[in-house]
Amino acid sequence: MTESILERAPEKERFFTIKNPATGEEVGRYPVMDREDVDRAVTLARDTFKTWSGSSFEQRSRILLKASSILGENAGKYADEIAAENGKTRTDALLAEVYTAAGLMKYYGKHVEAFLKPVRVPGIIALPLRKCYYKFEPKGVVGVISPWNYPLTLSNGPVISAIAAGNTVLLKPSSQTTRCGLIVQEILEKAGLPPGVLQVLTGPGSLTGQALIEHEGLDMLAFTGSTETGKEVYLQAAEHLIPAIMELGGKDVCIVTKNADLDRAARGASWGCFTNTGQTCIANEIILVDKEVYEPFVQKLSELVRKMKPGKEVGCLGSMTMNSQLEIVRRHLEDALEKGAKIIAQGGESTFQEGLWCSPVLLGDVTPDMAVMREETFGPVKPIVPYDTLDEAIELANSLEYGLSGSVFSRDLEEARRIADRLKTGSVNINDVLMTFAVPSLPFGGVKNSGVGYYHGKLGLIAFTDIKSITEYRIPIKGEIHWFPMWPDVDLIFEDLNMVLFADGIAKRCKGLLSMLRRVPLSLLRLKR
Ligand code: NDP
Repeated sequence: MTESILERAPEKERFFTIKNPATGEEVGRYPVMDREDVDRAVTLARDTFKTWSGSSFEQRSRILLKASSILGENAGKYADEIAAENGKTRTDALLAEVYTAAGLMKYYGKHVEAFLKPVRVPGIIALPLRKCYYKFEPKGVVGVISPWNYPLTLSNGPVISAIAAGNTVLLKPSSQTTRCGLIVQEILEKAGLPPGVLQVLTGPGSLTGQALIEHEGLDMLAFTGSTETGKEVYLQAAEHLIPAIMELGGKDVCIVTKNADLDRAARGASWGCFTNTGQTCIANEIILVDKEVYEPFVQKLSELVRKMKPGKEVGCLGSMTMNSQLEIVRRHLEDALEKGAKIIAQGGESTFQEGLWCSPVLLGDVTPDMAVMREETFGPVKPIVPYDTLDEAIELANSLEYGLSGSVFSRDLEEARRIADRLKTGSVNINDVLMTFAVPSLPFGGVKNSGVGYYHGKLGLIAFTDIKSITEYRIPIKGEIHWFPMWPDVDLIFEDLNMVLFADGIAKRCKGLLSMLRRVPLSLLRLKR
């Protein structure tokens, strides 16, 4: 395990333990870091920033590419460690954690220089002879707070974006998945990242996380987690007037039109709804199906759901991670059944089994007043609803408080694109599910209560920088026409210039040009007198 480089007084040590949600076995013991520890970590990060901000693109690129190789070569070992903390299956850990994290490392490793090199832009005709460009500069110390559902990839994304842009980072992973935060640090440091560029703060959100977001020494925050906590984090960022990228909850819909390939749609929805036991921010939370194809679609999806069992083996659903989340799922299911919903299909024999195990459930006869239709469930209980018109389906989707992602299944691509355009979300997958997050070149983020800002892709990397614009004037002329002492009649010359540049029609422009050509030499002569 990578140790914190902070020195701690032995008498101060307090620890917390982590249990494997699938087995109850203890899998980790870590120090609870308090305000003093966070303060010292910020001081070290500010100090390290002085050197790291001057690191070359070549050095950053080398570290990221090496880190990607280390993660790829040890994929199985790290997947097992992720699964042990989170309860997910090894397959889920390999696909959606190791693969996406290594992929983003490689992508930024290859492109960091191209994305962040200075950009030359045209100047202005009125004040010519200037070279104009802008540069991307690191912001300073970035605080990253990550959740437990995809603990490796959701720590890795903001961390490596910040580091690739030349910032230093304090990562506070969810206390349940502390080791996953330390894995990111371990891999990057093995790949050559200098100590102190990334520090992992271990401890609960209410103490360690709170101390981090309240600290005045941060220059940016990147938070992934619930909308509720996100709002508190965003208020703290406003207090210190620093930017914050907020990746929050979701209630994504999957729209299956009458033109869909129903086999692909059913298989896609089975993955989009139930992978990671439904604990995915961009999971399909509600399936909306054209009533013309509702029956055959339900039949196909039900067959798949009945074959999905909770368990550790390939093809099974892993355990849920947090008891608090399991209770939300239980509440949503009970509320729906009380209000008249019916279980159409279920994977295991009983819905809730000993420990944190929960079977996949497909719910029919749902109504808008049910919690499962409005609130984020974040578990394997999914409502399916027939619709009469596409307008009705889109209206339902857009009436939700969230706007993270969504899916549309239709073989008519024009129809699918029209639906995608009308969905108020940060991303849409056409004939696909969960894909936008996995593509490192696509910016990822949500609208409405799903968040603020983006990461991933070129724009997502730029989000971790300050943009500095520069003009360079290199001709040896002592002054400018509008500087003091101003040229005589400078106001009239600029009046003519505005006519030349912006008047409607060639005649008016020529008139302005002739007037300007007469005035400039006269003005120059009077200036020299
Ligand atoms: P929380 O908001 O409870 O926690 C997220 C992180 O914040 C954890 O590291 C937590 O630490 C920390 N935290 C908790 N309280 C505070 C605080 N007062 N100050 C600072 N940090 C704090 O979310 P969950 O962990 O429950 O994650 C699930 C939620 O995250 C879901 O709603 C899901 O939709 C959303 N999510 C969004 C994603 C996106 O990209 N849009 C991706 C994945 C999840 P600790 O756990 O130690 O308490």
